[in-house]
Amino acid sequence: MPSSALDRLKTLVEGARSAVAFTGAGISADSGIPTYRGNDGLWTKYDPAKYADINYFRRDPEYYWRFFQEVRYHVLSRAQPNEGHLALSTMEQRGKLTALITQNIDGLHQRAGSQRVIELHGNSRRFPCVDCGTVDTLEEVFARLDVEFPPCCTSCGGSLRPGVVFFGEMLPPGAMEESTEAASACDLFLAIGSSLVVTPASSLPVIAKEHGARLVLINNEPTALDGMADLVMREGASEVLSAMRLAQ
Ligand code: NAD
Ligand code: ZN
Repeated sequence: MPSSALDRLKTLVEGARSAVAFTGAGISADSGIPTYRGNDGLWTKYDPAKYADINYFRRDPEYYWRFFQEVRYHVLSRAQPNEGHLALSTMEQRGKLTALITQNIDGLHQRAGSQRVIELHGNSRRFPCVDCGTVDTLEEVFARLDVEFPPCCTSCGGSLRPGVVFFGEMLPPGAMEESTEAASACDLFLAIGSSLVVTPASSLPVIAKEHGARLVLINNEPTALDGMADLVMREGASEVLSAMRLAQ
């Protein structure tokens, strides 16, 4: 990675009064969690247009639960936070990061120690009952699949669903408002590992920029917003963030 870009990043972070980070699937790629466009054989056997879509889930819930049993559970239960997650947690501890907004559903930011995490798309480690709201854990639900498929709520026998925002659903109440407020108030916005094509989340870097923040994009491929950024680092997220962390 060019040292001039890293130096510029460090200068921007050091000079920031209030930074906000916004993360996507790319930050968790080094933790072994494929992005939707990943090439992993088993993962691609299942189609996100089916396992991540609310209408499909209502029509054929077994498809989701097979995907969960065969793939997602194993990926999630093995995944550990990487240097990228840890660097953002350190930034928060140092008082540099006022909010961490994520599109990810893997819970790895919290596991890395980040306290203020706004999850725009929910969390795939939680399973609320659609009837009574009781929440089951990843391990409980996985264990139950051997005896009951699809699994039901242990309190009321109702239907369980993953605590994620499916395609075709609204974002959790307040999440976008809280994110917009954080993006409007910050003076540095770091967008990390996101293709910036999923709306409305991809509007957040634009909002930050319109309110005068510096915009840094860290992504290993071009993004939709490269043209408006103050700094574009086309690198691996954990590589850049760990280099930044060592300098903190
Ligand atoms: P995306 O798949 O659209 O984009 C990911 C981006 O990360 C791509 O541009 C890719 O080039 C880049 N990338 C891949 N590896 C990287 C690395 N090591 N370092 C830096 N960049 C890297 O993901 P998105 O923008 O988050 O949006 C898609 C949706 O996918 C979201 O709604 C999210 O909920 C969901 N999703 C989440 C997870 C997760 O929780 N880990 C995984 C897959 C998909
Ligand atoms: Zn219930």
